[in-house]
Amino acid sequence: HDWYSAYRALPDAQRPSARTYTIRALRPEQAEVDVEFVLHGDNGPASRWAMNASPGDRLAMTAPDANAEGPKQGYEWKPPQGVRRILIIADETALPAAAGILETLDDLPLKPKVEALFEVPRRDDVQPLPQAAKLRWLARDAEPACQHGELLMRALRDIDLQQEIVALGGFPSAVANGSEDALNQDEDAPLWDPATLDDSAPFYAWIAAETKVAMKLRRYLVNECGLPKQYVTSMGYWRLGKANG
Ligand SMILES: Cc1cc2nc3c(=O)[nH]c(=O)nc-3n(C[C@H](O)[C@H](O)[C@H](O)COP(=O)(O)OP(=O)(O)OC[C@H]3O[C@@H](n4cnc5c(N)ncnc54)[C@H](O)[C@@H]3O)c2cc1C
Repeated sequence: HDWYSAYRALPDAQRPSARTYTIRALRPEQAEVDVEFVLHGDNGPASRWAMNASPGDRLAMTAPDANAEGPKQGYEWKPPQGVRRILIIADETALPAAAGILETLDDLPLKPKVEALFEVPRRDDVQPLPQAAKLRWLARDAEPACQHGELLMRALRDIDLQQEIVALGGFPSAVANGSEDALNQDEDAPLWDPATLDDSAPFYAWIAAETKVAMKLRRYLVNECGLPKQYVTSMGYWRLGKANG
C-alpha cells in the first residue's frame, strides 16, 4: 500500500522515472494489460520508452486493486445515478479513460443524453468507439496552427448549455451558487478536482486534458454557462512544457 513512500525514499540516482497511464483493458487470467501511449517524442521517459519498446522489454507497474480493502481509488468517473445530461471532454491522453467510460454508459439507470468531445492530433487518430454517446472528434491537423485544447473550447461553445440547463429545470439553488467562486485557480498548481455531487444531480461534466486546457474548459462551464462547479470533474493529465515526474 505504501509503495509511493518507498519510491520517494530512494536516492535520486536510483529512483526510476514514473508516469501515470490508464489501464485501457485488463486480462488478469493472461496477466495482460493494454495501455495506449501518446507518442509525443523522445522528450519524456514514458513516451521515449513506448517509441522504442520491443517485445521482452521490462517495466514495473503499480495499479489500484478493486478487491483491496480501504477506500476505492484510481478512477474519478462517478456519475450520479439520477443524471440526465453528461458531457465528456478529453484530449488524446484521456482518450483511453474516456473510451473505457463510454463502455459503461449502458449501466446508468436513466439513459442520460451523453455528448463526448475528443481532441486528437490527427484525423487518423479517430477510433471506433461505442455509440452510446454523441461523439465529436476534433483533429488538430485539420486546422492549421491549432493549439492544444483550442478545438475543445470551440466545440464546447457550440453547445447551447444555457438552453439545456433551462430544459433540465435549472439547478437547486443550494448548488447553483457554487459558481460564485470565480475559479481563479493558480495556473501552475496541479489540477485534480473531482465533482462533489449527490445522486440527485441532473448534470455531470468530466474533463481530462492538458492542465491549463482543463482549467479553461471548467472556468467556461462554471463562470459563463452557470454550471455549478460541484457538477464538474476537472483533471490535468499533463502539462505543456513541463515534465510530469
Ligand atoms: C490519471 C492519468 C491517466 C493518464 N493516462 C494516459 C494514457 O492512457 N495515455 C497517455 O498517453 N497519457 C496518459 N496520461 C498523461 C501522461 O501521464 C503524460 O502525458 C506524461 O507527461 C507522459 O510522460 P512522459 O515521460 O512521456 O513526458 P514528461 O517527462 O512528463 O514530459 C516531457 C515533456 O513532454 C511534454 N508532454 C507530456 N505529455 C505530452 C503529450 N501527451 N503531448 C505533447 N507533449 C507532452 C511535457 O509538456 C514536457 O515538455 C495520463 C495522466 C494521468 C494523470
